[in-house]
Amino acid sequence: MSLVERDKKVIWHPFTQQKNMLSPVPITKGKDTLLFDENGNTYIDAISSWWVNLHGHANTYIAEKLYQQALQLEQVIFAGFTHEPAVNLAERLLAILPGNFSKIFYSDNGSTSTEVALKMAIQYWWNKREVENGKWKIESKARNNSQLTTHHSRTKILAFNNSYHGDTFGAMSVSDRSVFTLAFHNLLFEVIFIDTPTKENIQQIQSVIQQHKNEIAAFIYEPLVQGAGGIKMYDADLLNTILSTLKQHNIICIADEVMTGFGRTGKLFASEYVDVKPDIICLSKGLTGGTMALGVTACTSEIYNAYVTDDKLKTFFHGHSFTANPLACTTALASLDLLLKDDCLQKIKWIAEQHKKFIHQLTINHSLLTIKNLRILGTILAFEIVSGKDEYLNSISTTITQQAMQMGIYIRPLGNTVYIMPPYCITEDELDKVYRVILNIIQQSEQ
Ligand SMILES: *Cc1c(COP(=O)(O)O)cnc(C)c1O
Repeated sequence: MSLVERDKKVIWHPFTQQKNMLSPVPITKGKDTLLFDENGNTYIDAISSWWVNLHGHANTYIAEKLYQQALQLEQVIFAGFTHEPAVNLAERLLAILPGNFSKIFYSDNGSTSTEVALKMAIQYWWNKREVENGKWKIESKARNNSQLTTHHSRTKILAFNNSYHGDTFGAMSVSDRSVFTLAFHNLLFEVIFIDTPTKENIQQIQSVIQQHKNEIAAFIYEPLVQGAGGIKMYDADLLNTILSTLKQHNIICIADEVMTGFGRTGKLFASEYVDVKPDIICLSKGLTGGTMALGVTACTSEIYNAYVTDDKLKTFFHGHSFTANPLACTTALASLDLLLKDDCLQKIKWIAEQHKKFIHQLTINHSLLTIKNLRILGTILAFEIVSGKDEYLNSISTTITQQAMQMGIYIRPLGNTVYIMPPYCITEDELDKVYRVILNIIQQSEQ
């Protein structure tokens, strides 16, 4: 039996309608930007395998660090124990994160990093509730009756329409109500949604904030680029306006940099483009250079201190079996070593410049009637193909993936949104090839 046949018998693939599913492509090897299939074909991984891979596949430096760590300590319970990779990584992240962060909380992936952030922010207000409204006496009485009250004033989350923060229930709740969440709508908690800011709607957004300012615990946002929502970009200054209003009302600002972190947007973190810094930041995807699953939620001392008390009920009761897994932390450290080298930072700038040149060429040499909203930020380039509806279920996605793979490039449009987000080790020849294929796809759409 072939691998595909065995796969069909036992595997259920993510985000994929299984009926009449196209056969998955067996990948036998990865090296740098290239994926090798079992027939010896190669594909340039132009979307960094779902945005995680920064330094190419099977990176030797990361692999060696991983191997050494596996011989030393592969896993240990993280309550009551600690280890060098977890502490090193926390120290190094705190030194580069955009904001005044003081503590690192580890979890497993992007969804858990946002779940942790939401719980951290909501319980912050719960922990502080007696100071807030003087109700402490009544509540401690209820507590003795072991009827723990969960009442506190700030329980609402503010989020952007069209956002994506992950697939677990809390993360789904603060994400756009879309085909991703449709089956669960009456089980998701209520969220106040606002549009991403434009000059036209900023006043209206401000008035929504005014209206709800005393009930909002936290605001969660993907800074500057909404990833899974279709690589939608919005203005840093307007985001700054929103964040400064929220800060005036002590609303906790949670930057979900799961996708935008680690150089993707041309700076180390997208929050560097914005003056007002977040109180909590969520990281995953590029964190380990795409080698292992790991999530990080960092917070300020203001938030952390609300948990540091003699009252055991104010403990943050959250954790995962693999919290701060030493192998994952080690790959994150190795990835940081590579990322913070001058040549890698230069390479990120170079990719951004190439993108600029490419879209300049495109706009002067082609009529571009079949595409719209051509946009770039850092290493990200995106546009919509004008064909069918602007939505995730637009089937042009599959057609384009197949066309591109025949030409040796792997891309996976979000509906009719075509984008590239290459590993930083991509060579000049490879990037030119990616552009040629993109141009080819645009030209095919004109026919
Ligand atoms: C991918 C993503 C997530 C979810 O991360 P997973 O590791 O897939 O759970 C959360 N937020 C953003 C912005 C993402 O792009």
